[in-house]
Amino acid sequence: MRWTQAHIPTLREDPVEAEVASHRLMLRAGLIRKLSSGVYSYLPLGQRVLLKVIAVIREAMNAAGAQEVLLPALQPEELWKRSGRAEAMGQEMIRFKDRHGKLMVLGPTHEEVITNLVAGELRSYRQLPINLYQIQTKFRDEPRPRFGVIRSSEFLMKDAYSFDRDTAGLDRSYQAMYETYEAIFRRCDLPVLPVLADTGVMGGSDSHEFMVPAAHGEDEVVRCACGYAASRERAVKTAGRDVGAGAPCPQCGKPLALEPAIEVGHIFKLGAKYTQALGATFLDEDGAQKPLIMGCYGIGVSRILPTVIETHHDDAGIQWPAAIAPYTVDIVPLNVQHTPSFDAAQSLYQALRAAGVDAILDDRDDRAGVKLKDADLIGFPIRVVISEKTLAQSQVEVKIRATGQTSFLPLASAAASLPPLVSPLA
Ligand code: ATP
Ligand code: MG
Repeated sequence: MRWTQAHIPTLREDPVEAEVASHRLMLRAGLIRKLSSGVYSYLPLGQRVLLKVIAVIREAMNAAGAQEVLLPALQPEELWKRSGRAEAMGQEMIRFKDRHGKLMVLGPTHEEVITNLVAGELRSYRQLPINLYQIQTKFRDEPRPRFGVIRSSEFLMKDAYSFDRDTAGLDRSYQAMYETYEAIFRRCDLPVLPVLADTGVMGGSDSHEFMVPAAHGEDEVVRCACGYAASRERAVKTAGRDVGAGAPCPQCGKPLALEPAIEVGHIFKLGAKYTQALGATFLDEDGAQKPLIMGCYGIGVSRILPTVIETHHDDAGIQWPAAIAPYTVDIVPLNVQHTPSFDAAQSLYQALRAAGVDAILDDRDDRAGVKLKDADLIGFPIRVVISEKTLAQSQVEVKIRATGQTSFLPLASAAASLPPLVSPLA
C-alpha cells in the first residue's frame, strides 16, 4: 500500500476520553473511531490487524480439526426460554419485537443456537466427536462499556462448541482447545496465564480463563509460586470468604499474590446442561439415546488488539508482534522530492511485495519527523529508511520497532535480506 492512497488518520494529541494506553493508541494510530458508547468502527489499519488475528485463530482451529460455521446473530427469545437463560441474561441481552410482535434477541453468545442446530444434525455416535466454531459479532448491553474495544457493547468473538459421546471425550476435546488457545496467544505474543475460573451464568463443571496480567485489567487473578492460579472470583467462591493479596494458597498455604489482568479467552466444560434442556441427543453404540456432552470455548477477538497494545507499547506508540501487525515493513523515503532515493524506495517496495512481504511505502511529501513519528506510533515491526545520505553509501537503515535496534543493510541485497528478518518475528 502507498500511504498517499491509504486512509491512516493518525492524531498528534491524546484524545481526552481515553483512560488507558491501548485506547489512546488505537485512536491515535487511526485503528478505530467511536460511534457511540461502547460501539466502534474499525478503520483500514484496525481492520487489517483484526483480519490477521482472525487468520491466526482460523489456522489454529482448523489445525485442531474444528470446522467453521456461521450462526445467526438474530435469535428468537423463545429459544432462550427453553434453555432457562432468558431471565438470567437480564438487561445484558438486547431484546426487541419484530414487526409480527415476536420477541427476538441479538446474540450475546451462541450455546442455544448451536445446540438447537446440532439437535437436528448429530444423531449417531459415529458423527462424534465434532467441534464447530465461528467468528462473529456478539451484542451485550454492558453496564459499563469502557477502555475502547476492551469492553464494548458490540464485539467480535471466536466461539467454538465441542460435542462428545461422554465426559472422557469432553476431557480430550477440552484439553485440545486448551492447547490450541496457548498456541494462538503465543503467536499473538500475549503472555497468557490460564487460571481456574468460575462458570457463572454459563454453567457446567471445569472452566479456565486465559488472563493477561496488565495494570488496567478489570479482572483479578490470584497466583502462587507453587503453580496455583485462579480468578479472584473463583478463589473467593471456593474459599467462601474474601481472598486478597497475602491470603493462604489453597494448594500449599503460602501467601497468594493478587494481580490485575485482562481476560482474552474462556473455556468451559458444559456437560449436558444445554443438550438436555434443548433435546440434543444421539444414539450411542449400545443402542441408548443420550444427551451430547458439550464444551464451549470463547476468544475475545477484538479484545486481543487492545490487550496486545497494553503489553506492547512505549512512549512513542505501539510495538506490534509481526504476526498481527497491520503492515510488517514500513518503507520510508525521507524526501520524496529527491528522485534517486525515492526511486530506490519504490523499487525496494515492489521487490518486497513480490516476495510476499506486507509492506507499506510512506510516499507522503511530508517532513521526515512526521513520517518517523507515525512509524513509531503505528508500530510497524520493521522500519526501513532511505535518504540521500543512505543512498550515497548504497545502504538502507533498518530499525526493529520492538527493540529500537538499528542497522544498515546494502541497498542491493535489502529485498533479499529483509524477508528473513521478518519471519523470525512472526
Ligand atoms: P467478562 O468477564 O470480561 O465480561 P465474559 O465472561 O462475559 O467476559 P465470555 O462470555 O467468556 O466473557 O466471552 C468470551 C470472551 O469474549 C471473553 O474471554 C472476552 O475476551 C471477550 N469479551 C467478553 N465480553 C466482552 C466485551 N464486552 N467486549 C469485548 N470482548 C468481550
Ligand atoms: Mg468469562
